[in-house]
Amino acid sequence: MTTQTQTIFHPSAEKRRILIVEDEAVNQMILSRFLENVYEVIPAMNGTEAMELIHAQYEAISLILLDLNLPDIHGLDILRRLNANPHYARIPVIVMTADGKAELDCLTLGAIDFIPKPYPRQEIVLARIRRIVELSEDRDLLHWTERDHLTGLYNKDFFFRYASMLDDYHKTLETDVMVVDVNRFHTINNRFGKACGDRVLRQIAEQALELVHASGGIVCRSEADTFFLYCPHRSDYGEILEKLSVRLEGEGGENRVRLRMGVYSAADKSLDIERRFDRAKMAADAVKGSAASAVGLYDHSMYEKEILAERLIEAFPKALREKQFTVYFQPKFSIRADEPVLCSAEALARWKHPQMGMISPGVFIPLFENNGLIQTLDHFIWSEAAAEVRRLKERLGVCIPISINVSRIDLLDPMLTEKLRGIVEDNGLDYGSLILEITESAYTEDSGQIVEAVKRLREMGFVIEMDDFGTGYSSLNMLSSLPIDVLKLDMKFIRSALRDQKASRLLEAIIHLAESIDVPCIAEGVEEAGQVAELKRMGCDIIQGYFFSRPLPAEEYERFVREHTVPAARQDTEEALAQ
Ligand code: C2E
Ligand code: CA
Ligand code: CA
Repeated sequence: MTTQTQTIFHPSAEKRRILIVEDEAVNQMILSRFLENVYEVIPAMNGTEAMELIHAQYEAISLILLDLNLPDIHGLDILRRLNANPHYARIPVIVMTADGKAELDCLTLGAIDFIPKPYPRQEIVLARIRRIVELSEDRDLLHWTERDHLTGLYNKDFFFRYASMLDDYHKTLETDVMVVDVNRFHTINNRFGKACGDRVLRQIAEQALELVHASGGIVCRSEADTFFLYCPHRSDYGEILEKLSVRLEGEGGENRVRLRMGVYSAADKSLDIERRFDRAKMAADAVKGSAASAVGLYDHSMYEKEILAERLIEAFPKALREKQFTVYFQPKFSIRADEPVLCSAEALARWKHPQMGMISPGVFIPLFENNGLIQTLDHFIWSEAAAEVRRLKERLGVCIPISINVSRIDLLDPMLTEKLRGIVEDNGLDYGSLILEITESAYTEDSGQIVEAVKRLREMGFVIEMDDFGTGYSSLNMLSSLPIDVLKLDMKFIRSALRDQKASRLLEAIIHLAESIDVPCIAEGVEEAGQVAELKRMGCDIIQGYFFSRPLPAEEYERFVREHTVPAARQDTEEALAQ
């Protein structure tokens, strides 16, 4: 949990501004003299003038000194008006009066202190004013640390504290935990500008606030485009989502912001509040890919998945120590020439769990990406991969580059270049013998920082492959400006292209476009000879898939490399010698 420390920047950092509302010129003069060395004084000679000044400068006024007997509006009336407006109500008011009986009325209406008339000594007046100004600034600070600046909703820390308090007071009440996310919010920012993105978030916040006010709940903005709601149990989740799906302004027609909502309905209150929200978040992520706005409900299968996830995360340190992780290598073939030529291989992580057996990286990689373990694991896998290149160089005299998977999280690590440099140098390799596979979605999700990181790696000499191309949202004209050397077409994309004519023409066009900017293409997941022939006809350069080989453990990979690189005569002699 992060605690926010914020600084309130006052408009005039040294001199706070004080409004003196007083119709008697002599009194105005005395007070001004008292204060003018320390404060910036603005006089108002009657109530109307005071209200005008407040209206124009309420953000900059630190304190109001108010006389009760004004010619036009009574001081108590002014207090009432200030109290009724949330912007004005935050300005502290000190009432100046000779009438001791008015004190109670003033306090009820929000005055914070009194200065009697005739005025006490200058030091006393100054000391009171200083204390009140400081107090109210501290209170403002507190207010802001409880709230999110953009939307005015509670921030997450305060929200969690509040929710736990509600639980304490309403132990038997059934409650729902909801997480609302904006689908592909970054594209709203990119397409319509940040101001529009901010407006969307504020509108969602307003709707959410209205909703919880009506039903008795609380809401906060937990991160950029994520809102948390905590309410008494209900069942109209679809309607809630409908209400929050605000319209995108200025974009003609029915252009609604698409949301996804995860609900942990009638949540188990014995779990701490953050865990309950984790579950709702999981339910929201489960409907992430949906075309329309969608509600996901937390259910038992998610619970089981969660338990498995916890077990795997817990088992990680021991698994690493006991070398349960290994690397498999899947060969890639260049199909440019008449005969396919082995040109590289991809390193793929495998986990041989003593009880659960072989676990697919499709299961554990996403888990480890959520908690930083991926960096440790990847460092291990990359080192193994680099060592394998070196071993084969020493044993077979061939250098077959190996590609490693670099996850989005790795790319945010400031030490990444150093780590990779260490791995390459420890094994005496060239940078060109390690290829970095970076998934397309990493480029589009968090573009700025990641693109910069990839650029640096490419400048060091690493070859960059854009992995899973066709699953993300990068547009074709982005390709020429991104730091990539090779385009790796996603398996699903290849499959649909080889089934459907229209998709097939698109695939061909992409291959040609990549060719025109000197970027070769790899097709992955190729299983049949027919697919190889078709891809070759389209101009695809490299193929990876079961057709040539499944991912292989190190010894089998070595045999495979030997068979596909070392000339037959020498191989016979070597095998004879080995016997
Ligand atoms: P990926 O990088 O897209 O890897 C390709 C996946 O397709 C691999 O699955 C591979 O075994 C599988 N595959 C290859 N050829 C065929 C085929 O002809 N047919 C079919 N049906 N599948 C084929 P795998 O090994 O289960 O890896 C899944 C994903 O896990 C990888 O997708 C990659 O994103 C991630 N991953 C694997 N190892 C690592 C690693 O060391 N580090 C990181 N960060 N991610 C890894
Ligand atoms: Ca890959
Ligand atoms: Ca891939």
